[in-house]
Amino acid sequence: DTIGENLDRTAARFPDRDALVERATGRRWSYREFAGAVDALATGLLDAGIAKGDRVGIWAPNRAEWTAVQYATAKIGAILVNINPAYRSHELEYVLNQSGVRMLVSAKSFKSSDYAAMIEEVRGSCAGLEQVVFLDSPEWERLAGTPADRQQLGSIGLSADDPINIQYTSGTTGFPKGATLSHHNILNNGFFVGELCGYTEADRVAIVPPFYHCFGMVMGNLACTSHGSAMVIPSEAFDPGTALEAVQAERCTSLYGVPTMFIAELDHPDFASFDLSSLRTGIMAGSPCPVEVMKQVIERMGMREVAICYGMTETSPVSTQTRADDSLERRVSTVGRVGPHLEVKVVDPATGLTVPRGEPGELCTRGYSVMLGYWEQQDKTDEVIDRARWMRTGDLAVMDDEGYVSITGRIKDMVIRGGENVYPREIEEFLYTHPDIVDAQVIGVPDAKYGEELMAWVRLREGAEELTAEALREFCTGRLAHYKIPRYVRVVDEFPMTVTGKVRKVEMREEARKLLG
Ligand code: ATP
Ligand code: MG
Repeated sequence: DTIGENLDRTAARFPDRDALVERATGRRWSYREFAGAVDALATGLLDAGIAKGDRVGIWAPNRAEWTAVQYATAKIGAILVNINPAYRSHELEYVLNQSGVRMLVSAKSFKSSDYAAMIEEVRGSCAGLEQVVFLDSPEWERLAGTPADRQQLGSIGLSADDPINIQYTSGTTGFPKGATLSHHNILNNGFFVGELCGYTEADRVAIVPPFYHCFGMVMGNLACTSHGSAMVIPSEAFDPGTALEAVQAERCTSLYGVPTMFIAELDHPDFASFDLSSLRTGIMAGSPCPVEVMKQVIERMGMREVAICYGMTETSPVSTQTRADDSLERRVSTVGRVGPHLEVKVVDPATGLTVPRGEPGELCTRGYSVMLGYWEQQDKTDEVIDRARWMRTGDLAVMDDEGYVSITGRIKDMVIRGGENVYPREIEEFLYTHPDIVDAQVIGVPDAKYGEELMAWVRLREGAEELTAEALREFCTGRLAHYKIPRYVRVVDEFPMTVTGKVRKVEMREEARKLLG
């Protein structure tokens, strides 16, 4: 199937069920209405001269229109280019030029960002950019209000293996790369995520992560539309209170988030006043999921069947996942087993040979989910996908005898202190057990004697007393091997983050280096 065929099938089966609910405006669409809106916009794009293979950029927060553009471009075989809402003009310019965007659909502004001004600023240096359509403008209304021409739409020759989407990675470790994905890649991944969560037309999913990211548009939107479930958009950008309110008001059965989002929700001053009894399942993913947070999500949010997923943009994204029937211990402490129709292996990064079970190495994935490649960066593609189509993830993992995978960190984040490999993840997990610490991140900083030393950045519970490095080291002593005890401790109010809610350790390291002189 292509994404358009799949949506039409769902709309035919569940015409009157909710497809999309936008909390900020109160707008809602049934599947019949949503599929109709998609056809209208798809016809509008064709009329505007957009053809199969053309790149259409979308730069907007989580709004209903984002979703409409996602499905309308897929319907005509245009390639959707997701643009990170946090970008500034130079990043925008890079992405527009790198992917060759012909039409950009954009919000005029978002929060304090004046998108229109930034577009104006770079437009002169984006030769391929022919049209800019702002949401809420008369041009947008014309585009979205075009009478649907189903015959014309049906006559476009589409293949499920066509590229349909360029998703730039989060940029956690450096400059983002454009993963090129097909219908086949992301529709299957979304479908299997929906299967994992047991979605039916009765499910209502609070999609909190940004649509620009695969967590939102694939694990959220495509998982819903392939099962007839409702996509609920709590707000344009994450806000813990609004997310909880959306769950309550819409009786959501599923809630998504990266760990930092769940932490913020659990930490919300009015947490206890929200009725979350409709929640059954959900997904935590995107960065290391602390055991403590998972336990609280199950206990305090009632998300009995919540899953952890592991994946990356380049693999559509999900590769491994926990299941509701896994033991509690594994559900909170591993990223589960390989997903349906996929393979994973753990190799020695130096030799590429598979390591024995239980030993750490680089995780590799193969199967339908592996991207077509990085857009017009064959050299970068060749660095990560080998001839047998195995994708190197850049993540360190351990697989046990029964196939459960634990992510020990990114290769780039591993610290080598005095010849010992130290995985920050392990120390972070330990620091979470400190009663005053709500969030902890550990990095390596240069050290003359040991090569690298460990530095912990911690966020403290409100009202907690000051925490000195000495006190924290004392807390660790006897419970962590001496070489894993952070030498430096910094109490902070927040961490440098990507829009997807991931901690940017690159930035932390830069700042730490400056601090230490
Ligand atoms: P960039 O590649 O631009 O540096 P990024 O890798 O953060 O950014 P994404 O594709 O959004 O971009 O994220 C994939 C990465 O997120 C994985 O490689 C992994 O490091 C991390 N990740 C995802 N899910 C999990 C998880 N459940 N546990 C631990 N880490 C995870
Ligand atoms: Mg990456």
